[in-house]
Amino acid sequence: MAQASVIDGKAHAAQLRAAVAAAAASLKSAHGAVPGLAAVLVGEDPASQVYVRNKGIATREAGLRSFEHRLPASTGEAELLALIDRLNKDDAVDGILVQLPLPKQIDPQKIIDAIDPAKDVDGFHVENVGHLWSGGKALVPGTPFGCLLLLRATLGSLVGADAVVLGRSNIVGKPMAALLLAEHCTVTLAHSRSRDLPALARRADILVAAVGRAEMVRGDWIKPGATVIDVGINRVTGADGKSRLVGDVAYAEAVEVAGAITPVPGGVGPMTIACLLRNTLVAGCRRRGLPEPGV
Ligand code: NDP
Repeated sequence: MAQASVIDGKAHAAQLRAAVAAAAASLKSAHGAVPGLAAVLVGEDPASQVYVRNKGIATREAGLRSFEHRLPASTGEAELLALIDRLNKDDAVDGILVQLPLPKQIDPQKIIDAIDPAKDVDGFHVENVGHLWSGGKALVPGTPFGCLLLLRATLGSLVGADAVVLGRSNIVGKPMAALLLAEHCTVTLAHSRSRDLPALARRADILVAAVGRAEMVRGDWIKPGATVIDVGINRVTGADGKSRLVGDVAYAEAVEVAGAITPVPGGVGPMTIACLLRNTLVAGCRRRGLPEPGV
């Protein structure tokens, strides 16, 4: 059988970012409006610092306004809630993202619940979660939305497909299942207590892996010709002592069986920031009562 085609997340993300930039430019020239994204980082976690810096660069490159708020690791919950309140009221801010994880003394759910749902560009607020499941106008979390865009670009219609999602987190697995259901897939949402994962996975026309376990999904878990979306980002040390990133799928095996597959890195990862920019633009238009951009 031929090798799977590789789904180029970098190229799809570049296209989406260009579309967001074009829509932002028209918004500015037609209405003088420039949507703004406020990123809040608490503490000095190195990975979070890189994410926030990259999000800021991408935001400015798309012609949107970027605000960064860096707070010390000792910041208390009340102090962070006060900042969220100020950002909720700030008319220049259309999107608020609080970089997770937060230090132990802060309850992340309390912070997420405090964000104005209209500015919740991460789509984690319970109001947006409710809209997503009930078919309303939600802001959808960037990673699963990015997966959906890659699936649509690869397959066109997803109607009637058997979709299996491995992992049921609030930020990836559950919203992914909701999005696939809305596309009229038959969805199985599996997790660490599911029985016989390989058998479940083998039923999938569309297999989304989001478990955070390096190369857990083997080649013989995959139905020949299936479309495989690998969300996992795991750092492992190879036999040569060098560290590298791998997904939740054993790529070298899967590429021999699948019809199409996302690589790690360069698959789902780049789509997440692009979708965040899209959400900021959408939130900016909705808040101003302007027509939503078709991106
Ligand atoms: P979480 O740890 O929040 O959730 C993991 C899920 O996988 C849980 O539902 C858990 O089940 C399930 N799981 C864990 N181990 C097993 C197992 N052995 N068998 C079956 N199910 C299992 O992770 P996230 O959803 O936040 O992230 C998943 C992966 O995606 C990570 O590698 C993360 O780095 C990556 N990621 C990538 C992003 C990107 O931009 N590309 C963005 C976000 C995440 P249970 O609920 O039963 O515990």
